[in-house]
Amino acid sequence: MKTFKSTCCYCGVGCGVVVTKEGNGQLSLEGDKEHPSNMGMLCSKGMNLHYTVMDQSDRLLYPQMRLNRSMPMQRVNWDDALERTAAVFKTLIKKFGPDSVAFYVSGQCLTEEYYLVNKLIKGFIGSNNIDTNSRLCMSSAVVGYKLALGEDSVPVCYDDIEAADVIFVTGANPAWCHPIIWRRVEAHKAANPDVKIICVDPRKTDTSRSSDLHLQIAPGTDIVLNNAIGRILIEKNYIDQQFIAAHTDGFPDFQEKVMQRTVAEAAELCGIDAADIYTAAEWIGQCKGFLSFWTMGLNQSVIGVNKNLSLINLHLITGKIGKPGNGPFSLTGQPNAMGGRETGGLANILPGHREVINASHRAEMEEFWNTPVKIANKPGLTATEMFEALADDKLKAIWIINTNPLVSMPDINVAEAALNKSRFVVVQDVSNRADTVKFADVVLPAAAWLEKEGTMTNAERRITHLPKAIDAPGEALPDAEIIWRFAAKMGFGDSFDYKNTSEVYDEYTACTAGTTIDVTGVNYQLLKTNRSIQWPLTTSFENNKTPITGTKRLFTDHQFHTKNKRAQIHAVPDENHSEPTSETYPLVLTNGRIRDQWHTMTKTGRVAKLNQHTPQPFLQLHPEDAEHRNIREGQLAVIQSRRGEVRVKVNITEDVRPGLCFLPMHWGKILGSNLARANNLTNNLVDPKSKEPDFKFSAVQVSLYKKP
Ligand code: SF4
Repeated sequence: MKTFKSTCCYCGVGCGVVVTKEGNGQLSLEGDKEHPSNMGMLCSKGMNLHYTVMDQSDRLLYPQMRLNRSMPMQRVNWDDALERTAAVFKTLIKKFGPDSVAFYVSGQCLTEEYYLVNKLIKGFIGSNNIDTNSRLCMSSAVVGYKLALGEDSVPVCYDDIEAADVIFVTGANPAWCHPIIWRRVEAHKAANPDVKIICVDPRKTDTSRSSDLHLQIAPGTDIVLNNAIGRILIEKNYIDQQFIAAHTDGFPDFQEKVMQRTVAEAAELCGIDAADIYTAAEWIGQCKGFLSFWTMGLNQSVIGVNKNLSLINLHLITGKIGKPGNGPFSLTGQPNAMGGRETGGLANILPGHREVINASHRAEMEEFWNTPVKIANKPGLTATEMFEALADDKLKAIWIINTNPLVSMPDINVAEAALNKSRFVVVQDVSNRADTVKFADVVLPAAAWLEKEGTMTNAERRITHLPKAIDAPGEALPDAEIIWRFAAKMGFGDSFDYKNTSEVYDEYTACTAGTTIDVTGVNYQLLKTNRSIQWPLTTSFENNKTPITGTKRLFTDHQFHTKNKRAQIHAVPDENHSEPTSETYPLVLTNGRIRDQWHTMTKTGRVAKLNQHTPQPFLQLHPEDAEHRNIREGQLAVIQSRRGEVRVKVNITEDVRPGLCFLPMHWGKILGSNLARANNLTNNLVDPKSKEPDFKFSAVQVSLYKKP
């Protein structure tokens, strides 16, 4: 019997787990009581995590390829698969240039994997065409932080929960999607009944039900609400004049903007009582600790960056940031979305939060990597742009790593047409559940969680080490090894000559020297000894005899990462630019997660216990909208948008506002059909700054299904 300490590979809470490998090879798992993020707690998904690696029935076991898509896949060896892929990449790059190829990766990739793919394409191939599915969930928060605080820096930590007396949850349902954080919030509230929880969500959820105030706003009116709260904070003099004067810019424009709309007008637009907006503002204004949590309700929007800014504004005008219990806290939906941001895993950034458009940042990385080419000076294709470029034959080849775009991309017709038209597709994944496998020219089997070593960073900047505990089945290889083997086939072997991921990690941490996310000197040994470290590591640890934990909170000196060290308050407009509803499509569809599933169900869908909670997809519809359409509970309905349709059973509930309906995002195929796929309906509008899609607002019609 042997035990291993690892980290849950679902959401960004990053709970520590202890895995026990029995003598007979069976695994058992429990929460790690010593891990500061969860202190032994696990949610239903985390508790059943080990089943995802024990069931190997649908695993990809060996490399496969075919010379054209009409042929069946053939089993090949690793050398053949990687040599052919390298040959195709070299041919395309020679003929069409480095921007003819792209990597589309995942927030589930480990930090080392992210770093290597970035190094390969940005430093050695000469293109910035790498983007991640995290673009679909947190890029608006990244841009929001940068514009307001000067850098993509989550300023807070989980311990701020217990130091807060107002917890503002907006566009998020942590009770289901980040359950361990929510348990801490609930325990804090139970011990301190005066603590106020405010939930902003167009739906009633388990989060709103355990809140003191639910602001059930109309979809798309988040900025209207936040600006109205800002107006009240100014009018009631709850703002921190001294902080504003000493540490921020932009307040006069903000004041002018929020005064343009009365609270009564805002309440009407939001569809809530003005008195409730006043209550929220009073609580925020009077509290000592104001902590705000948000996820996709703000981020996945055509105005996602401005929604983020409108929330961060509330912290800046009240000076409630950089102190215990205060600050904006974007929750990440994936286990290593943060690690991707640190290593440059987006089309516009480089490792160490450097920018591709910054000449000195490019020069630093060119020197560090000793690149044979110049790093391109413009951002590469983002997630949606990649698929559009494939469909237009501007992009010739795509390498998809551990993500399932045929369920997760908006307006799925575009992604499907793109893969159909693409010249060359490599799919690197764990299981054949990924819908992309059928479009692949080359399939590369990847090792799963527990089968490979590496690191991840959770939502509070906490880096933990994940050990290899079991062997991968068949010929599956760790993703990092696949990339360094491929780099060698491309002729870059000298710069990708790693023996293990520990060497990759050491190289990554060295390149953070002098940056705001400096983790120089952090290595596997230190992470194993300390269990975890929050970046940046500012303590000199040579003579340090106390445990090294890194940095809990940022901006405690109120020196922000902007050029003049002052945070920027933004006067953001409050109009929503989502697609309009119409007579034909009069309802707004929003989508999201359910308690026991995660993403496109390629992992959670394999666990029988998790499938029991909600076995089938459903549409939540308000009773008035159901009655108007003569639809009864449990009947099959057709949901149509300007792009496609979905057929699922209806759940009639007042949990949604009239005019709003809700569909879970998880389901791809059911009984061979894609008719439960939410992204049949969504559109490819994106926020102009973050390029994050408008998943949460699609104009639809719902009608009773009638057999043809
Ligand atoms: Fe895993 Fe997130 Fe659940 Fe923690 S809260 S056990 S990280 S899914």
